[in-house]
Amino acid sequence: MTAMPAQSISLTRKPADQTAESANEKLPGIKDIIAVASGKGGVGKSTVAVNLAIALSQRGGRVGLVDADVLGPSVPGMLGLPVDEPPAATDDGRMVPAERHGIRAVSMGLLRNDDNPAILRGPMVSKYLQMLVAQVDWGQLDYLILDLPPGTGDTQLTLAQSLRLSGVVIVTTPQDVSLKIARRGLRMFQTVNVPILGIIENMSTFTCPHCGSDTDVFGKGGGDHMSADLDVPFLGAIPLDVDIVTGGDGGRPIVIERPKSVATETYLEIAEALDTQLQGLDTATMGSFNWTWDTDHGSPPWLDTASNPAGSPTTPIGLARRDQMTLSVLWADGRQDQVNTRDLRLACRCAACVEEMSGRPLLDPTTIAYDVAPRSITSIGNYAITITWSDGHSTGIYAFDRLRALTEHADAQMVEDV
Ligand code: ADP
Repeated sequence: MTAMPAQSISLTRKPADQTAESANEKLPGIKDIIAVASGKGGVGKSTVAVNLAIALSQRGGRVGLVDADVLGPSVPGMLGLPVDEPPAATDDGRMVPAERHGIRAVSMGLLRNDDNPAILRGPMVSKYLQMLVAQVDWGQLDYLILDLPPGTGDTQLTLAQSLRLSGVVIVTTPQDVSLKIARRGLRMFQTVNVPILGIIENMSTFTCPHCGSDTDVFGKGGGDHMSADLDVPFLGAIPLDVDIVTGGDGGRPIVIERPKSVATETYLEIAEALDTQLQGLDTATMGSFNWTWDTDHGSPPWLDTASNPAGSPTTPIGLARRDQMTLSVLWADGRQDQVNTRDLRLACRCAACVEEMSGRPLLDPTTIAYDVAPRSITSIGNYAITITWSDGHSTGIYAFDRLRALTEHADAQMVEDV
């Protein structure tokens, strides 16, 4: 194993093996899975993922990196990993990650000769991606960084929903077009309730190494404006620097090659800011729960809105039983709703209640008793709940964005009724 760098400072967060509560359910040794995404290619997403991973390890974290850009893997080149040696496997068939510059890494580029372009269709891409995350002998990790394929389509969505992501970092250049696409990506992650940990602006100001003058090659301050606009944190701006290109091409990322550069300092500051965001989320999410309605046993926490940095209108930070037939919901944006449990039962969209193809309702409301109530409410990942009912029904999934829409509708209905 590669030794931690000498300049490591102590990590302020609890290591992965001591925090079973917040550790990933599917990948128990991994504390936080962080996706690095961008709306389009060429903005430096992979470069940011690699340098950020190293910066986090230099702060003392145990870091894994997945080159999830299966169609154009660039991480092996950036880390200087040999692409002609297939990775070793454990006795139970899991891949042993490569180790370089203090981090563990896997990439499709290590599994096939890099000259052969991978011809993979959408569902295959998702399958390979899941393999690159789940079939790997990671050991204990504080952070698993996913360098996502560029774009905001099905692949990204599937991954966001199938792994329990702690959050996503969006990389953009200051250019308008890049920002527009990044904004769309950001909304996509918000709709599936993946917290936005922040925006990184890459290829910001270029400082001439000869005369010291600054040039904003791709414009100025776009990432900063976007974060203010959309109310998500701005993590930092990495300068346009030719050493980033040569370091990336030579297998020695700038954080390793030029430890005193402005870019490296910025990466270390971003790593610290990211850590702060993650600590905020640790206290802000309700975590997983299996709550018995009648006895209130296993009820989720009721958090304080101030503790949620994302403030998302579709993230509940509190659920409570106000009375036998009323569910109280507190949202991260501060709104509080009271939902009648029968209304919730009638809104079930499972295949038995709604015809899948046409959307035609199959449930006859007159068959649902007025005092129908949940038996138990259980969390699904960080995006939904499922409810088993006193009438024996138990298949409906209520995604948080739907629950929000439902509660808003119920409120509007109440005003009309008055
Ligand atoms: P993406 O993953 O978004 O497609 P890459 O990380 O592969 O982008 O970067 C594209 C190119 O831009 C690479 O040649 C890389 O070295 C270069 N690059 C990335 N960030 C910077 C930067 N801050 N300054 C200069 N060049 C950069």
